[in-house]
Amino acid sequence: MANVFLVGAGPGDPGMLTLRAKEIIETCDIMIYDYLANADFLKWCKPECEILYVGKKGGDHTLPQDKINDLIVEKSRSGKIVCRLKGGDPYVFGRGGEEGEELVEAGIDFEVVPGITAGVAAPAYAGIPVTHRDHTTSVCFITGHEDPTKEESGNNWSVYGRSNSTLVFYMGVGNLPMIAKNLMDNGRAPDTPVALVRWGTRCNQTSFVSTLENVAEEARARDWKAPSIIIVGGVCGLHDKLGWFEKKPMLGQGVVVTRAREQASGLVDILRGHGACVHEFPTIRVEPLSDYVDVETAILQLARYQWTVFTSVNGVKFFWQQLKEIGLDSRIFGGMQIAAIGPATADALRERGIEPDFVPEKYVAEHVVKGLLERGIQGADVLIPRAKVAREVLPRELKEAGCNVTVLPVYETKLVQATGDEIVAALDNGDIQYVTFTSSSTVENFFDLVDPDVFRKYPDVKIASIGPVTTETVKRFGFTPAIEPDEYTIPGLVAELVRDAG
Ligand code: SAH
Repeated sequence: MANVFLVGAGPGDPGMLTLRAKEIIETCDIMIYDYLANADFLKWCKPECEILYVGKKGGDHTLPQDKINDLIVEKSRSGKIVCRLKGGDPYVFGRGGEEGEELVEAGIDFEVVPGITAGVAAPAYAGIPVTHRDHTTSVCFITGHEDPTKEESGNNWSVYGRSNSTLVFYMGVGNLPMIAKNLMDNGRAPDTPVALVRWGTRCNQTSFVSTLENVAEEARARDWKAPSIIIVGGVCGLHDKLGWFEKKPMLGQGVVVTRAREQASGLVDILRGHGACVHEFPTIRVEPLSDYVDVETAILQLARYQWTVFTSVNGVKFFWQQLKEIGLDSRIFGGMQIAAIGPATADALRERGIEPDFVPEKYVAEHVVKGLLERGIQGADVLIPRAKVAREVLPRELKEAGCNVTVLPVYETKLVQATGDEIVAALDNGDIQYVTFTSSSTVENFFDLVDPDVFRKYPDVKIASIGPVTTETVKRFGFTPAIEPDEYTIPGLVAELVRDAG
């Protein structure tokens, strides 16, 4: 089997990476990557993976191509798994062909993992099908990066000028006036539609449609920059009708997510689905306890309790892990009453075959107590599996109501060792419009890493808080959330963000 892979990373949207590419990123020992490949993918590399950046940006190469080739060959000889990751498709204007030839000459086996090329993906995300029966029967992928001083162009302008093919130019922004002129000089009508799509498929995608005669001037007026795909042909006229991505309500809106990475994926995914540019800034980390003796004891004595109240998905997760560890399962709960503090916790229970007896309408401790009292919890023995450090409201109020409460830590949250530098830089750049808080601890930890006095310098950045308890904590730092949903859940929070952005 080959140990070297030329891998396409797709156009930027993480969802546009192939399953095969992800598999190789996860298993490689050496990663050699480019400027355009979404750097987010690197988080899938093994911790011990050697990660080498050889990026190219426009013409200025960090490493010249022959040195890149040498590096790939040298690393491949080690027999380790080498992933050569490139933006889009490795064989479409990616010089993957040259790298492949070098490998063959060095006698090294390799495989290619095609990627979704920007020339197809960026138009699709801009509502432009590169072929369409009403407009064209063919599509050409063309480099726009020709040296304009070259006497003989490698591009056959007279053919492109005469054909009705959709033309897709890569690396063409700098040469746009030359491209438009050559096409018109060779017969393409000046009113032929032209589209420019910048950062296609990413949350910062922008685009516009013009005509061959006006496009160069319009791009100049907009100070248009690379990386962009240029599309020429009648299909560009479908942009208004078929455009979908740029209609997303949160497109381009920068949102900071402070939740623990282990818990954040739901929130991150929905926000991305709405087009937001998510800045993951986990301030806490969920960790197992150093020992589970107490949990084991509690499980073995579970029959003592009449109620178990789960306050988080993690509480459910770590409790069941321990249950499994000692060879037991959900049946241990038998006829016991079970409560979940919110819908996500309730779903975590359902996944384990438990339909909770009680889920409050409002997802804060105070309402849980009220609902539980209505269900006659007074005087009961109550077990609360939860984080090592958490709010005391629920146990205290249940105790006041005459319950015999046992708080059982099943996991702990720790402060992530990080700095706020990246977030402050993004704030400075104007890249952030919202900061989301989903618990008091995320607020406290955020302001531990980002000085409140520094944050105060960006009054336009809105704080979104999941509910009243978190809001109180935000206020303690001298800020007032602009957003707090009526329903204290992640979907509730996102719905309010979307409304605010729209
Ligand atoms: N192998 C890549 C292309 C590399 S050449 C592929 O298959 O997509 C680099 C050029 O690709 C850029 O100058 C730009 O024209 C285009 N490009 C790459 N990613 C892009 C994106 N997300 N949006 C618009 N153009 C992109």
